[in-house]
Amino acid sequence: MASQQDGDDTLDELLKDGARIEELPDEDEDNNSATEMNGPPFPGKHLQPKRKHDVPPWMNSATLGLFHEDSQTPSTEALAKTAAECLPFLTLEDTQGLPLNSHGLPHLRRKPHADFLRGCLGDLPAPYAAMDASRPWLFYWCIAGQSFLDEDVSEYKDRLIETVRPLQNPGGGFGGGHGQYSHCACTYATVLALTAVDGLEVVDRKAMWHWLGTVKQADGGFRMAIGAEEDIRGAYCAMTVITLLNLPLELPPDSPARKAGLQSFTDSLGNWIGRCQSYEGGIAGAPNNEVHGAYAFCALACLSILDAPHVSIPAFLDVALLTRWLASMQTTPEGGFAGRPNKLVDACYSHWVGACFTLIEAALPTPADKYTTAKEGMWNKAALVRYLLTCGQQPGKKGGMRDKPSTRPDGYHTCYSLSGLSAAQHHHHYDTQGSTRDDGGSGRLLAAFNWRAERGTAEEMKALNVDEEDVVELVHPVFVLRFEAVEAARKRFEGGGL
Ligand SMILES: [Zn+2]
Repeated sequence: MASQQDGDDTLDELLKDGARIEELPDEDEDNNSATEMNGPPFPGKHLQPKRKHDVPPWMNSATLGLFHEDSQTPSTEALAKTAAECLPFLTLEDTQGLPLNSHGLPHLRRKPHADFLRGCLGDLPAPYAAMDASRPWLFYWCIAGQSFLDEDVSEYKDRLIETVRPLQNPGGGFGGGHGQYSHCACTYATVLALTAVDGLEVVDRKAMWHWLGTVKQADGGFRMAIGAEEDIRGAYCAMTVITLLNLPLELPPDSPARKAGLQSFTDSLGNWIGRCQSYEGGIAGAPNNEVHGAYAFCALACLSILDAPHVSIPAFLDVALLTRWLASMQTTPEGGFAGRPNKLVDACYSHWVGACFTLIEAALPTPADKYTTAKEGMWNKAALVRYLLTCGQQPGKKGGMRDKPSTRPDGYHTCYSLSGLSAAQHHHHYDTQGSTRDDGGSGRLLAAFNWRAERGTAEEMKALNVDEEDVVELVHPVFVLRFEAVEAARKRFEGGGL
């Protein structure tokens, strides 16, 4: 055992050889946070010493250290890789040559994004043949996306009507391409695209009513097509179409669900949606399946069609559990949303999860529980805006928005990124005084038409680090269209009947 004396000798020897005790330089002098972190090195660590810009607290080195996983799995590796891919853009070390706004964030590239969406409605390269069964989706994403950028989309009306006319089947509903069976997703996308250009006259409403009657199920849910899977997309798509077109709520006489005693499209639907909520709080595509962010939106939007959100959502869902699950989908450090636990950030969930908060806030019991400014809330709006502007925009001439920096832009991610931006930038209120059913007249469900929106204030836009030109239009929280388009559809079919 070394004696105190031995220790002294050793120190003496060291000093004799000219060594001296020196204070080690602080490598992180201009950073007040702790630099040493336990666990595997954080993928963005190389960025920290040379940081030149102010970064939000969730991106400083002490905070980043909290998010280490000490187990290594393919999921944790993919999460670390994605964080490393995004951090240079999030911290503004690399601005990709994008023009910057007065807060130092990239501007929203309105014109290149609108040009990109316009281009997707023209001739497409050969690999798009794989999208043949999803053509109406392209129409919806590209037309609605342009409208969110305040582009005039009325020029598409005649072209769209002539393009979708052959996709409509005589038995009702729309297929994805020529000669294809009717499908709820394609029907929804077609009806939304037509609503965006005020071109709904092409829809055969009576045939649509009959066809939807064939996909309504005895347990309350809807199949996506005759003989196809029954899931929550079917419920949201069908109820959206029924409401926008003001189809009768009573089931057609030939609906197979009538044999089970159901009378109306809404019978047992709320209960069926409630069965899709899992023990985690999120919503699955069907009872007992895995939960997913996009299904949460379908559930909340469908319930918001059935009745006022503060009535229908708490009646069928555990709101606290769902809110917790939704909030946990916002990723750190990226600030965007993932669609499932332990999955990667992806800009399309800016809508699928981000827009859920608008609906769920309206379901809170008293006005005092609701959040009133863009700065407050159950989710970090500034973080989402930062992710979309720094990581979601394709640099260069091409424009368009993308899932994450390593992916290519497309119409789907552009449309839903813009919708997510709208949810972060503006306020939506449900008017609790509005009627929820046109009882004296057509019987139409009116709850989804009782939403009002107002633009975020200049002060709020400052808190989100955006300038006026980075602000998108108001997007309807249930129908994911401009409010003006929704209002035109409400008026067009006010009288009901077939
Ligand atoms: Zn995506």
